[in-house]
Amino acid sequence: MKERRIEIKPVSKIQRKHIDHGRMIYLTFDDGPDPEGTGSIINVLAQNQVKATFFLIGRNIAKYPEMLEKLIQDDHAIGNHGYSHKSLHLQSFQQVKKEISKTDELLWEHAKIKTRLFRPPYLRLGLWVFNPFFRSEKQVIMASLNPKDFKSNDPHTLSDYILKKIKPGDIVVLHDRSDMVKNTIQALKTLIPELLNRGYKFGKLDQIEF
Ligand SMILES: [Zn+2]
Repeated sequence: MKERRIEIKPVSKIQRKHIDHGRMIYLTFDDGPDPEGTGSIINVLAQNQVKATFFLIGRNIAKYPEMLEKLIQDDHAIGNHGYSHKSLHLQSFQQVKKEISKTDELLWEHAKIKTRLFRPPYLRLGLWVFNPFFRSEKQVIMASLNPKDFKSNDPHTLSDYILKKIKPGDIVVLHDRSDMVKNTIQALKTLIPELLNRGYKFGKLDQIEF
């Protein structure tokens, strides 16, 4: 009997057809907005004229809506990262929907934007990815390069790791929360110029048709 494969389409790497025109990579930052962390990261990105995608937590948008505005002003892409950042892998579709909608509402309330991009907290998927309504509303974005910056205590090790591993089409997951990832900001200051030197281009995930 022929095996029936259900396509759920979470994306972790961008396919070659989208990266033909160069060495496109996609930096993503999770868990903001954070007044210090997001602010520092967008400064580094601006200094290098590079764009990225930020997956925001709803309750942080409610606390720091001005940082969301800043992200939009700087023309970065915005994704949904749930409301409370609890792990959703064992949650029902209804519970997941609530987490997603609350954040969508905040994005609309504060910035009048809608996003199809969704990254589950801790990159953990659940059975809800099969839900047709969910699939029609959201595109799940995972990652192909996860340097675990939240565990790093040395910016050089972090940037060396990324430089060694990165390939065109990679979606890199980093964090913009200042309480955990001071090294990320430090690492980006050397990492981004070096990636540009190597001919990489930085894409935004809202520019891709999935
Ligand atoms: Zn997260």
